[in-house]
Amino acid sequence: MKIKAGFEANGRRNNKETVKSDLIITGGGLSGVCAAITAARLGLKVVLVQDRPVLGGNASSEVRLWVLGATSHMGNNNRWSREGGIIDELLVENMYRNPEGNAILFDLVLLDKVVQEPNITLLLNTAVYEVEKDGADHISGLKAFCSQNSTEYQLEAPLFCDASGDGIVGFLAGAAFRMGAESREEFDEPMAPNSGYGELLGHSLYFYSKDTGKPVQFIAPSFAMDVTKEIPRFRNFKANEHGCQLWWVEHGGRLDTVHDTERIKWELWRVVYGIWDYIKNSGKFPEAETMTLEWVGMIPGKRESRRFEGDFMLSQRDLIEQRTHPDAVAYGGWSIDLHPADGVFSERQPCDQWHSKGIFQIPYRTLYSRNISNLFLAGRIISVSHVAFGATRVMATSAYTGQAVAVAAALCKEKALLPHEIYNLGHITSLQRELLKTGQFIPELVLQDERDLVQHAHITASGTLNRLEFDDEDLIWKPLVISTAQLIPFGKGQVPAITLTIEADRNTELDVALRLSARKGGFTPDTTLVEKKLPVSKGRHEISLSFDVQLNEMRYVFLTFLKNPHISLPYTHQRVTGLLSVYNGTNKRVSNNGHQRPPADSGVNEFEFWCPQRRPEGHNIAVRLTEPVLVFDAENVRNGVDRPVDGPNAWVADPNDRYPYITLVWDVPKTIGRMELVFDTDSDHAMESVLMTHPERVMPFCIRNYRIEDGSGTIVYRKTDNYQTRNVITFERPLLTDRLTIYVDHPSENVPAALFAIRCYSESSGYDTNHI
Ligand SMILES: Cc1cc2nc3c(=O)[nH]c(=O)nc-3n(C[C@H](O)[C@H](O)[C@H](O)COP(=O)(O)OP(=O)(O)OC[C@H]3O[C@@H](n4cnc5c(N)ncnc54)[C@H](O)[C@@H]3O)c2cc1C
Repeated sequence: MKIKAGFEANGRRNNKETVKSDLIITGGGLSGVCAAITAARLGLKVVLVQDRPVLGGNASSEVRLWVLGATSHMGNNNRWSREGGIIDELLVENMYRNPEGNAILFDLVLLDKVVQEPNITLLLNTAVYEVEKDGADHISGLKAFCSQNSTEYQLEAPLFCDASGDGIVGFLAGAAFRMGAESREEFDEPMAPNSGYGELLGHSLYFYSKDTGKPVQFIAPSFAMDVTKEIPRFRNFKANEHGCQLWWVEHGGRLDTVHDTERIKWELWRVVYGIWDYIKNSGKFPEAETMTLEWVGMIPGKRESRRFEGDFMLSQRDLIEQRTHPDAVAYGGWSIDLHPADGVFSERQPCDQWHSKGIFQIPYRTLYSRNISNLFLAGRIISVSHVAFGATRVMATSAYTGQAVAVAAALCKEKALLPHEIYNLGHITSLQRELLKTGQFIPELVLQDERDLVQHAHITASGTLNRLEFDDEDLIWKPLVISTAQLIPFGKGQVPAITLTIEADRNTELDVALRLSARKGGFTPDTTLVEKKLPVSKGRHEISLSFDVQLNEMRYVFLTFLKNPHISLPYTHQRVTGLLSVYNGTNKRVSNNGHQRPPADSGVNEFEFWCPQRRPEGHNIAVRLTEPVLVFDAENVRNGVDRPVDGPNAWVADPNDRYPYITLVWDVPKTIGRMELVFDTDSDHAMESVLMTHPERVMPFCIRNYRIEDGSGTIVYRKTDNYQTRNVITFERPLLTDRLTIYVDHPSENVPAALFAIRCYSESSGYDTNHI
């Protein structure tokens, strides 16, 4: 191309482009990405505008925070609580491609998933800077600019979603918002901080270091600070800690975290280069001699700025009391995690984290502006108090709000509704049902879907696991140095007797108890059903434990063994969907000291933590049950819950059955355009996205190989090497059959095959708004 341009007295203008769509999402963090993918798959034309060159927001390689959510590093009592749907798909994909936690590869996972959606127009390096309105409460368009291609975009749609972190769209549109903490009185929040502690969380900026194997010098820049003079906790810096392990290198909580961001960044650069100067040049870290800086963040991670007001504001009591809401569409489970506003310059503990006993619901009314009628909110800007924000801000929770917004947007389009009308005109049940179908687990909700043909089928299986008796030849013996429990799902009725072999190195006593969570669906074992003290003589013995306990319904029971280092328990190599051992240990990362003892006036509960160990540890205790347990039945594949809650909610095949299968039979032939299968990718696993490494690429419970045959024995679908949670199968030519048989391979010799759900639909699209 050749251009020669002369003088133009009126100057020139940038390129202009108008893009029209159904939904415009501002912000390509995890909330924006998950909203975009979900909406696109539901058939909406979506524009995703991201001001930076990569997707992921704080999870991207620009900031490098690991994605966390309700699983809380597996350090609290939220069992099987990893968020489902798109965020699950992304984390499972990342685990498969990137178990080493390389931040660049996580960027790639996100980008790859987004570009595979033809309904998404992705505008990278494009910043939204202006909002156009055609009424006081209605946005008509956005203006955005991409400096890379000198193009001004005019973005038009009936619906907008602000997932920008700072809430640029809501702010410019004039929506009501807040910055800084509420008073204790406004929402009756005992944890509301005073101004001495501070009312806003600051930014952080990280660095990565690496060992080059040969001496490397570091000459600090002129602006690096002397951390020994300015940072009270400078002795906590370690040569081998980098990335988001240094989350407490925080600043800005007393500044305007929107408009002062550049100033905050400069101060954080002073800190970061000062830390590295201290590590390299103070003489206190000889191990750092061969280390160099590999990367320093250019953009600070923003924790908190604006929170917008929806028709409901979630607050402390909603979280701690695990209150239910008629319009629950998501959940959280991170602790209420507040930080002193002085951040890295504070003498205080860098955070105060208080957990609720389990996961808490997030209502739909927090996900749209109460003033701007066509504006959805997603991510950290949703309608929550400062205290509740302490828990809802983490990225898997943020992503979950994005998915909920996307399904709501599809419903709005289909029925010509505004966001608030979904709640106010009685469409919440439809929204919840369609969300559950996208894999969005919502606590206390069960998918009821008459259009799912599996609901009308006769279901049989080749065999089902019903005897729990682990008789390995090579049991693993571990001393009872931490109080330990086996989580066992029992059906209604008498708890059967349990036997196991134990070993004692001297005459002693074993304290055993059966406990459960007072709250249905919970995993805090705060109720003791029965306790026993057994005399144990030196040596190896089989013990039989009978408990006079009747259960009114299916529940998880904790068979607990209190700490006694003179006793060893046997563990099995066998792993089973819905079975887990837990420990009353500690996890400093999430302020878990084994027992939560909050200040008396904090409004937070006292309780014990019983958490799993990560694989390759975390084996099941080799118990043997005298009676069959009928909790792994094939009927579970249509019970509307796709993860363990009060029972395993899965069909688990008989491990002795070499060729397991499950069959669906209908009285008359059915047209089947689409099938959905839900496999076990271990929703108890936190799957941290970066920095941490993981021992597995594929979860051990996940069925890798299966085939589906129709009534004539024709193979209609075959899958090998599956690793994903949800498999959605669309038949180009819908099947007409009265029978489907799904033949599955056991994932391994130590893990029986398990399926959480099978759903079949006549239509090739699973989405359905016309059926309430
Ligand atoms: C230091 C720190 C530690 C944290 N620790 C964790 C942790 O360990 N795990 C965890 O899960 N969460 C953690 N959080 C919280 C979490 O990172 C944020 O709350 C979360 O990123 C919110 O997600 P989001 O999608 O709302 O926003 P973001 O991730 O901030 O994404 C918003 C996106 O919008 C883009 N954007 C902004 N303005 C515009 C505009 N005008 N036009 C177009 N695009 C725009 C931004 O570039 C960004 O990519 C931490 C946060 C910080 C800062």
